[in-house]
Amino acid sequence: MRAAVLRDGELGVTEVAAPVPAAGQLLLDVVRCGICGSDLHARRHADAVADVAAEVGYAGLMRSHEQIVLGHEFSGVVVGRGPASRIAEGTAVVSFPLVREAGGVHPTGLSSHAPGAYAEQVLVQDALSLPVPNGLAPEVAALTEPLAVGLHAVRRGEVGKGQVAIVIGCGPVGLAVIAMLKASGVRTVVASDFSAGRRALATTMGADVVVDPAVESPYSAASGHGHLTSGPEVFELGVSTVEKLSRLPFVPWHQVWRVADKVGAATPKHPVVFECVGVPGVIEEIISSAPIYSRVVVVGVCMEPDRIRPAMAINKEVDLRFVLGYTPLEFRDALHLLADGKVDGAPMITGEVGLDGVAEAFDALADPETHAKILIDPRSSATTPGRVASGRPGTPGP
Ligand SMILES: [Zn+2]
Repeated sequence: MRAAVLRDGELGVTEVAAPVPAAGQLLLDVVRCGICGSDLHARRHADAVADVAAEVGYAGLMRSHEQIVLGHEFSGVVVGRGPASRIAEGTAVVSFPLVREAGGVHPTGLSSHAPGAYAEQVLVQDALSLPVPNGLAPEVAALTEPLAVGLHAVRRGEVGKGQVAIVIGCGPVGLAVIAMLKASGVRTVVASDFSAGRRALATTMGADVVVDPAVESPYSAASGHGHLTSGPEVFELGVSTVEKLSRLPFVPWHQVWRVADKVGAATPKHPVVFECVGVPGVIEEIISSAPIYSRVVVVGVCMEPDRIRPAMAINKEVDLRFVLGYTPLEFRDALHLLADGKVDGAPMITGEVGLDGVAEAFDALADPETHAKILIDPRSSATTPGRVASGRPGTPGP
């Protein structure tokens, strides 16, 4: 079968052996596969990322000298079944991109042990595959994976509906976070990006306030929600709260405070900030600029060493959380949010190419104005990722 392969930073198309499903596995004809930001990064930083994974105990992540078939955001149709698989041939599915091979579990499209879906066919685990419901278009079904990343980040951010969420960076990851914040009922979502094209997409995906950080701070755009922005405000809040509570008759102030603490009413108001850029300096910039007590969820994958000033994070008691991937439940829920029409991912799709257009698509994705998510259709002969007509190649069925 034909596959786009990466080796030593070069992309090319070649014939590779067709995979054969083992017990509990399915063989899919790939219908669509998204190009992920981490695929772009892998072209330059594969070895650094593999070193980190090896330190965490996984030695199988791709290395730059290996021939790798990328692609972990895909939809397909079952065309082959290993023994003990449940899903029938001809079923349209999406699959959580992990596969059992070579005595271990490997991430599909990110390891030489688990070739990905930049190819005509891909192997998946039957247990991790989900039939696509409601006649959802395969283009949109292929967005399950990136939207699951957004859902996981939002859940780890524990954003209350009345809390302000601030999304820094509106590439595919930021757009997925915006979509999932709105699907979760968060009323105020502020989005920030230097690119006008991406700001327009952020609005389409549901952001309530969209700012150009060259012109306006996303944190001042989120003002008026009772966030604390200076040390003296924190001192004043502490003193005045005890003064007020001390004036209450019959109950000592500390008993009232303890009750308020238990129900979460003693925590000062703060936004949840999502870092969706992933380049050095952004985390420090957020820590320095965000309101006091901000919760910061780091979703953008920065592949290089970075610096922060712990003293600044300490002064503001910033709550820093890092997230990776999603759970099988979140993956399932992302698919159903798309299929039920509760999340419209289609506007994220800005182009499609065939396997021969993958290298050009990688170059095109370097320009944030034109493209967000480019899908590969392995049966297309398109070599240029022209914009998809209307930006909406498919919508959920009834
Ligand atoms: Zn990805």
